[in-house]
Amino acid sequence: MPESSVPNDPSLMEKIVNLSKRRGFVFPSAEIYGGFRSTYDYGPIGVQLLRNVKDAWWRSMVQMRDDVVGIDAAILSPPAIWEASGHLENFTDPLVDCRQCRERFREDQLVDPSTCPNCGGAGTFTEARQFNLMFKTHAGPVESDAAVAYLRPETAQGMFVNFSNVLQTSRKKPPFGIAQIGKSFRNEITPGNFVFRTREFEQMELEFFVPPEDADQWYAYWCAERYRWYIDLGIPESKLRMRPHDPDELSHYSSGTSDVEFLFPWGWGELEGVANRGDYDLTQHSNRSGEKLEYFDQATNTRYRPHVIEPAAGATRTMMAFLLAAYDEEEVRGETRTVLRLHPRLAPYKVAVLPLSKKDELVGPAREVLGMLQPHLMCDYDETQAIGRRYRRQDELGTPFCVTFDFDSLDDGAVTVRDRDSMEQERVAIDDLLNHLVTRMN
Ligand code: ATP
Repeated sequence: MPESSVPNDPSLMEKIVNLSKRRGFVFPSAEIYGGFRSTYDYGPIGVQLLRNVKDAWWRSMVQMRDDVVGIDAAILSPPAIWEASGHLENFTDPLVDCRQCRERFREDQLVDPSTCPNCGGAGTFTEARQFNLMFKTHAGPVESDAAVAYLRPETAQGMFVNFSNVLQTSRKKPPFGIAQIGKSFRNEITPGNFVFRTREFEQMELEFFVPPEDADQWYAYWCAERYRWYIDLGIPESKLRMRPHDPDELSHYSSGTSDVEFLFPWGWGELEGVANRGDYDLTQHSNRSGEKLEYFDQATNTRYRPHVIEPAAGATRTMMAFLLAAYDEEEVRGETRTVLRLHPRLAPYKVAVLPLSKKDELVGPAREVLGMLQPHLMCDYDETQAIGRRYRRQDELGTPFCVTFDFDSLDDGAVTVRDRDSMEQERVAIDDLLNHLVTRMN
């Protein structure tokens, strides 16, 4: 993929937010009621892009491997899980209030902890208090302490509490992994930067269980593997880096953590954390639940508690990074062309079928071409406006190919295939069309 011609354009965020609204990627949630606190809805195009990001992850982490299986665990969960995991006690951010303007901030995110970035007040902050990020609710009709439940703040615990279930049913043995994609919820103090930090978001997480002596080697493996995944899907190397945590950043149980970071318009930001978590999680849940949570190796007649390597990525945040990396503008015959140079695997639509005119004699056979492609590829169909404007619209959606059915098609049984990136056009026989498109996409 060519590198975007607008790499450090400060207005890039604004362009992405506008494009998202204009073309149906992401809408502010509850917009007709004035929006709702940094929540977002994914529109007809965004839902496809987000799904493709998740599918690409699942393909690489589950489908293409025989040592990883998937699960889909509940979002509502009992306090016991979060007591054991340490979230009830430790999943907190330091919160400060400005006494002057009443704005709230995460103390650890302030550039100058003595000055309010909103009103400029000096020494106006309250003492920091630890604010737990978990959303608390009640399961059932009675709002009693016994009915307290939490919306999960990460998907990972679903894998730990199902460790034995999966071990027994999947016939896997360490090294093996359990993968999950799903919604997580955090009552973030300062959500923002569009979908970078929201209170409701999606994660893609793997817990990979290994013999303790192999943990370092698998940690290095997953760091390299996860970096490569983003590069293979089109993030330029100049905008992606692996950042190992300093020793003082590490959780007490982690012997190594590296973040995959993307160069956002405001600077480097985390897309994913890869952590060597030791046996912390299984031990915590074993102690709390009384279940053994170990692996018995029949070959050596030994029992041990596996160590865990965890690559934990955000799907919604990663989708945004792909959008930013793909956004490009270029001059074409005196006009600015906006194009999303998305990897075909991520592109919301793979093909747009466009009859040159709305006349019945073209619309009928163009719809036949559409019907032929639809079982294999996600297609758009558009018969309104001049063809040039329809091409521009597809460029903004990132559609790799447009297929135009024109009057010549009625005679020669061929269509024009237009390439999104080069804008080159080529005549292709309808009989060969599917094969042609699939080959070029791969
Ligand atoms: P951050 O430091 O940005 O708050 P984190 O280190 O707490 O993130 P993890 O708990 O490691 O994040 O979660 C794994 C991934 O989930 C993150 O790398 C990110 O992509 C995603 N994620 C976490 N919190 C949010 C959020 N509030 N909104 C969107 N994505 C998030």
